[in-house]
Amino acid sequence: MTDTDTEEKAEEGGGNFILDIIAEDVASGRAKEVVTRFPPEPNGYLHIGHAKSICLNFGAAETFGGRCHLRFDDTNPLKEEMKFIDSIIEDVRWLGFDWGEHLYFASDYFERLYQWAEGLIEAELAYVDDLTADEIREHRGTLTEPGRPSPHRGRDKEESLDLFRRMRGGEFADGEKVLRARIDMASGNINMRDPVLYRILHATHPRTGDAWCIYPTYDFAHGQSDAIEGVTHSLCTLEFEDHRPLYDWLIENLAVPRRPRQYEFARLNLTHTVLSKRRLTELVAGGHVAGWDDPRLPTISGLRRRGVPAAAIRDFAARIGVTKKDAVVEMAALDHCARELLNRTAPRRMAVLRPLKVVIENYPQGETEELEAVNNPEDEAAGTRKVPFSREIHIEREDFMEDPPKKFFRLGPGREVRLRYAYFITCTDVIKDAEGAVTELRCTYDPETRDGNAPDGRKVRGTLHWVSAEHAFSAEVRLYDHLIAEGDASGDGFLDRLNPDSLEVLDGCLFEPALGDTAPGETVQFERQGYFCPDPDSTPEKPVFNRAVGLRDSWAKKQKKKDR
Ligand code: ATP
Ligand code: MG
Repeated sequence: MTDTDTEEKAEEGGGNFILDIIAEDVASGRAKEVVTRFPPEPNGYLHIGHAKSICLNFGAAETFGGRCHLRFDDTNPLKEEMKFIDSIIEDVRWLGFDWGEHLYFASDYFERLYQWAEGLIEAELAYVDDLTADEIREHRGTLTEPGRPSPHRGRDKEESLDLFRRMRGGEFADGEKVLRARIDMASGNINMRDPVLYRILHATHPRTGDAWCIYPTYDFAHGQSDAIEGVTHSLCTLEFEDHRPLYDWLIENLAVPRRPRQYEFARLNLTHTVLSKRRLTELVAGGHVAGWDDPRLPTISGLRRRGVPAAAIRDFAARIGVTKKDAVVEMAALDHCARELLNRTAPRRMAVLRPLKVVIENYPQGETEELEAVNNPEDEAAGTRKVPFSREIHIEREDFMEDPPKKFFRLGPGREVRLRYAYFITCTDVIKDAEGAVTELRCTYDPETRDGNAPDGRKVRGTLHWVSAEHAFSAEVRLYDHLIAEGDASGDGFLDRLNPDSLEVLDGCLFEPALGDTAPGETVQFERQGYFCPDPDSTPEKPVFNRAVGLRDSWAKKQKKKDR
C-alpha cells in the first residue's frame, strides 16, 4: 500500500489507518520493533474515548508482537491525584490489557528532563523569561499576526542557567518566571513561538511530593518520555497534530536515545453524553450524578458498574475503527455491541419489575413444582435450572389490560396466555381496590399444558414471564436512560440539556430464586426486559440491579433500513 492510499483510508473512515502505517514501517524495516504507550493524565477517571486509545495502542502492540506501556503523564500536580492513578490502573486492566513490567510515570523522568532543559539553555535554545502568563499570551500573536519577542529573549545562557537553577531551588513564586524554548516568534505555527517548557508550581505532587517546585509542561515531557521508553509509534488525538513540529524539534535538539514518531487520529465523540474529563468533572462535582462510576456516565467505571462487559467495549472500539475524520458515533452503536455479546453469553432469568399478583384458583393450595428452564437458548452448554411454581404468582403489570385492543396478545379478562416454562392460564376475574385500580387477577390453569403446549393443539399468542410469590425475593432495579436528552453533547451548555429522567428507581421488584446466585459483575438477561447486573449498593436484605441495556435494538434496525 502506498502512502496516499493510507492517507485516503485515514480520511474515509472504517478500518484502522494506524495499523496500516505500522505494517508499512515493519515491512520496510523502519521499525525494528513496535512499542506503543497509553499516556493518561491522572486528573480524572477514564472514559470510553480513552478506551478507543487503549484498544488502539495495546491492540497495535499485540498485532505486531511488540509491547505497550502504561505511562502516566503526571506533570501537573495541581490537578492530579493518587486515586485517579489507582482507578486508571484498575480500568485498563479490567478492559483486558496487560503492560507487564512497563508501568511508567513521567515524574520518574523529572531529573533527566531537567538536565535536558539545562542542555537546551547551554545550546542557546532556551531562556528564562520573566513575563507573566497573560503577557506571554499577549506577545504570542494570532494565526494572522506574528508574535512579538519577550524583552528577555536575548538573555544570555549564563544568566538563564543561573535563573533556571534558582527556579528549581525555590527562590521564586509561582508564575514569576518560566523557561521557554527559543524557536521562532514569527512561525506560522503558534506552538513554535517560544513555547513554555517549565513553570513554577509550589504544589505537592502525588508521587514526588515536594521534591520539585518546577514542572515540565506537557509539550516538554511528552515526546521525551516517549523517547526514553523507546516508543516507536506515539499515537495521539488530532488536537496534537499542530504540536508535532515542536515534538520533532525537541527530539532533534536533544540527544535522545531513540526517535519516536507521532501519528494522530480522530477522537471518539458519542451522542447523548460528554467525553471530556473537564465536563465529566463538572457533572460529578455539581452533583448531577452520584460519582465517577455513576452508571449513566460514559466512564469505564460507570460502564462496568452498569453491567457492560469489557469485551463489548473492545468490540465497539474495533468496529468504529480509527480514522482522521472527526465524527460523532451513536450511543446506540455501543448498546448494540453490548446486546450482541450478552445475547450469546448472559444467563436468562425471570424478574418481574412491576408486579401484579395472580392467584391460580384451580391449582392445589400449598403445592410447589420445580419446572425446568433453559439458561441460554444461544448456548446449550449453559444448561437448565429449576424454577419453582405455585398457586400464587406475579406477572408484569403491563402484561395485563382490562380492556385490551385486538393486537394486545397478553392477558385480559377471559384470555389465555402461556407462562414461560409453565402452563397456560386463563384470566377469570379481576380484583380492584376502592379507587378502581387492579390489585389482583384470578386465573385458572390447564394442567395438560405443562410442557408449554396444549394436547388439543389450541394456540396462544402471548408468553409471559412470572415469579412464584412464595419463592421470589424482593429487589430494587435501576433503569437508566440517556444522560443528555438531545443531540450531540460536544457543545457548551450541556448542563441545560440533562435528561431529568435518566434514572428511574423501581422498588419491590420480584426475582426468581436463581437470581440470588448472580455474581458481582455478572450480567444476566431478565427475560423480555433486558440485561441487568448487580450493583455494589446491594445488601443481603436489599439486592440492587442495574439495567445495562434493554432488549430492543433501534440501532440495528436503522442500519438495516440504511442498507435497503
Ligand atoms: P479529556 O479531554 O477527556 O480530558 P485528555 O486527552 O486530556 O482527555 P488524557 O489523559 O491526556 O486525556 O488522554 C490520554 C490519551 O487518551 C491521549 O492519548 C488522548 O489522546 C486519548 N484520548 C482522550 N480522549 C479521547 C477520545 N475521546 N477519543 C480517543 N482518544 C482519546
Ligand atoms: Mg489531557
